Amino acid sequence: MTAHAPPDPRLADLLARSSALHGHLCPRQVLGVRLALLAGETLGLDFPRSDKRALVFVETDGCFADGVSVGSGCWLGRRTLRLVDHGKVAAAVVDTRSGRAVRVRPQTDLRARVRAGRPEGQTRYQAYLDAYQTWPDADLFDVQPVDLRFDLAALVSAAGKRAVCDRCGEEIVNEREVVQGDETLCRGCAGDSYFTLL
Ligand SMILES: [Zn+2]
Ligand SMILES: [Zn+2]
Repeated sequence: MTAHAPPDPRLADLLARSSALHGHLCPRQVLGVRLALLAGETLGLDFPRSDKRALVFVETDGCFADGVSVGSGCWLGRRTLRLVDHGKVAAAVVDTRSGRAVRVRPQTDLRARVRAGRPEGQTRYQAYLDAYQTWPDADLFDVQPVDLRFDLAALVSAAGKRAVCDRCGEEIVNEREVVQGDETLCRGCAGDSYFTLL
């Protein structure tokens, strides 16, 4: 038990779910769950949710991303979460109905404040774990209203859109094909491949 009541009644249950999925409970995962809940609250969206109304952009993978998924109900496998790999513990959430979006990040001095305030003998890890579960949102996060710099409709695309690459013959869904001259190509064949065939 911690000294303070959890700031959100959903938190204990979500952390139990998240740690079961993730294999352990760790500070970044807690941050992810709470960050997602705060983003949902800011946008007036009930989190975690199971429909496709919210779209989340996590800015790093790992423990944090699992927490964000559990807190928001948005998953890579549901097409409601995307990785924008900037190596940052932060995420943006978009309400696809209104187009409103917020980015939430931990305050840049957060870890320093947690370390400075930790009781004698407490490990940093435990101090982060405690603080992230018990401190109020206002002491943890910055909420930034943002505008998306891309076409949301194109990113989401529509179910059932299919093309076939004229070179490799592989199927392309979600309108990710590229037209070059009179050829329809997958991004790899169009020159944007992340691998070399051996
Ligand atoms: Zn972890
Ligand atoms: Zn191809």
